[in-house]
Amino acid sequence: MKERLKKLEQQARQLEPTAKERDHLLENAKRYGADFLDNLPELPAYVQTNEKGRGVYDLPFEGQPKNFDTILQTLKSEVDSQGLNPASGKHAGYIPGGGLYPSAIADYLAAVTNRYTGVFFSSPGAVRIENMCIRWMCDLIGYPDGAAGNLTSGGSIANLVGLVAARDDSGISANNFDRAVIYTTHQVHHCVIKAIKFAGLSDAIIRTIPMDEHYRMKASKLEKQIQSDIEEDLIPLVIFASAGTTDLGAVDPLDAIGDIAERENIWFHVDAAYGGFFLLTDHGQEVMSGIEKSDSVTIDPHKGLFLPYGSGALLVKDGQKLYESQHMTANYLQDTLKATEEASPADLSPELSKHFRGLRMWLPLQLFGVAPFRAALEEKLLLTRYFYREIQQIDNIEVGPEPELSVLFFRYIPEEGDANRFNKNLTDEIHRDGRVFLSSTHINDTVYLRLAVLNFRTHLEDIELILSVLREKIHKLTGTATS
Ligand SMILES: *Cc1c(COP(=O)(O)O)cnc(C)c1O
Repeated sequence: MKERLKKLEQQARQLEPTAKERDHLLENAKRYGADFLDNLPELPAYVQTNEKGRGVYDLPFEGQPKNFDTILQTLKSEVDSQGLNPASGKHAGYIPGGGLYPSAIADYLAAVTNRYTGVFFSSPGAVRIENMCIRWMCDLIGYPDGAAGNLTSGGSIANLVGLVAARDDSGISANNFDRAVIYTTHQVHHCVIKAIKFAGLSDAIIRTIPMDEHYRMKASKLEKQIQSDIEEDLIPLVIFASAGTTDLGAVDPLDAIGDIAERENIWFHVDAAYGGFFLLTDHGQEVMSGIEKSDSVTIDPHKGLFLPYGSGALLVKDGQKLYESQHMTANYLQDTLKATEEASPADLSPELSKHFRGLRMWLPLQLFGVAPFRAALEEKLLLTRYFYREIQQIDNIEVGPEPELSVLFFRYIPEEGDANRFNKNLTDEIHRDGRVFLSSTHINDTVYLRLAVLNFRTHLEDIELILSVLREKIHKLTGTATS
């Protein structure tokens, strides 16, 4: 048996690189990251290919170990040279991503030390770091002491956990789910509809409240609908408002909705996954005033705080309610109950073992302070307004409403031919070109292009390039020069 153990140990020890091997890995990874970032300003925002990354299958797991260079080459050619480039400042489609460098360093450190951040007992310092991030975001919302939250993988999971907390707090039993009512608008993110399904609430009634001409929920209609639902013996469960809809960037009237929710005693959730961090700006404070009246908020640090993907957050005003909804214990966890000075993430979410997500948020906030974030967000708001003004200089451009945050939409109305087809072609031309990236949407049956400015690397020169690519493509499709 010892012979066998010796042999296995020898093989197993390959999993622990020597100091020299570690240096080799780190040096190469560092060079790869540096090349990527140094070339980023020249890299396209989008690359369409026929292969679509299929080359990754050329490196199967079985067989001979491979050297790091070969692996990195594959990463470069099959992953980082194809598809969308969310790290690029020229990506202004969907909701752009971020990718702060210190967050990458934090992820590296979190993975090397592999602290266990599910429970306070196992890594009190790490849990304090996460709770510090949560408290900072709760303060940003305007929540009182006693608020709590959880760092999630993104907004979808945050919305799901928020909905489950609302469901559990309502005391409505499954027998009555078909009488429970959820209030939202057609512009709510589709992950909320998924969340309703996952929360077992598919039988609940979803009221899509009419919107004003800026695609914001009409509070007066909401109030009327609630009244008539109560008269019909239905049970209002939750209001799902948006602070920055993904598609059109609209902010529902949070203050008025908050008053209604309070009057009728209905859980009020605000999906601020996209817009939430604009609260760091005066303008954001203004358009999202009343957000503090909510019972829970979803906010995505991988959007407005420019973190790499994998960082969302759910914040709940009455932290006890989140705890009641999410905590659970097990025999084998009895030791962990000894230290309860700080809330444990596992008691406030469905997850137990988890990535140390807090470090990638905490480190950049420590290194940079808050001021550059505030400036970057204000810059994005202003760039969007600049684009809104400049795009109207092009003949035949029709714009949507003045942007509330950093998303706007517009379309070109050709002198002849189908406008929808033209704007789809215009989108395709931009995608084929790839220097910049915009995405399209449709409202009722009308096709629009969208501009979403949120990448921290997007500055004036990128917006100018987007405008010039648009002019060029319109010219190409119409055969006429644009002013
Ligand atoms: C992005 C977004 C979501 C989904 O969040 P993920 O982080 O992608 O899971 C939900 N709601 C809104 C308003 C969003 O913009």
